[in-house]
Amino acid sequence: MNWPHENNMPEIIEFYGDPRGGHGGASAAWMAENVMPLTPPYEMKFSWGPRVEHLLFHRKCRDAFGEALLAIKKLYGAQSDIEAHRLHLTGGSFMFRLMRGSSTRLSIHSWAAAIDIDPQHNPFPAKWRPGFIPAEAAACFEKCGLVWRGANGDDDPMHFQAVDHSWRG
Ligand SMILES: [Zn+2]
Repeated sequence: MNWPHENNMPEIIEFYGDPRGGHGGASAAWMAENVMPLTPPYEMKFSWGPRVEHLLFHRKCRDAFGEALLAIKKLYGAQSDIEAHRLHLTGGSFMFRLMRGSSTRLSIHSWAAAIDIDPQHNPFPAKWRPGFIPAEAAACFEKCGLVWRGANGDDDPMHFQAVDHSWRG
């Protein structure tokens, strides 16, 4: 998939639209037009406790995230095995907020184009190491065209996004 590039906000807005509403929040009109629910293919919980009824994603990348979660379900099979690897825990998908460490750049979560998996065991900032999300689970997202911010020594191993992060000169 040819996602827009993370360092090019006009390119992201051209592809996903502009989620900025008034008063520092998300635009209700943009949300109504673009943000769609996804019922996870296995039971998920938010890392702070509640059961996930549905995850919210942008309509242009919702299916990629759905396919990635389905690939995880196929990889592990039983819910108990999924939970043993902590892949049922999410820090959320759609969150209108600034990128961590920035006072101006929007987080990719603001476009509903990212999900965080098991933030407690995949802290930011940190390089992936054994004990973090299993590499084969991260690969489920990558083979569905999503970008893992824990790849290649990157510093946000909980985070998967439908936005390009590759080096661009
Ligand atoms: Zn994230």
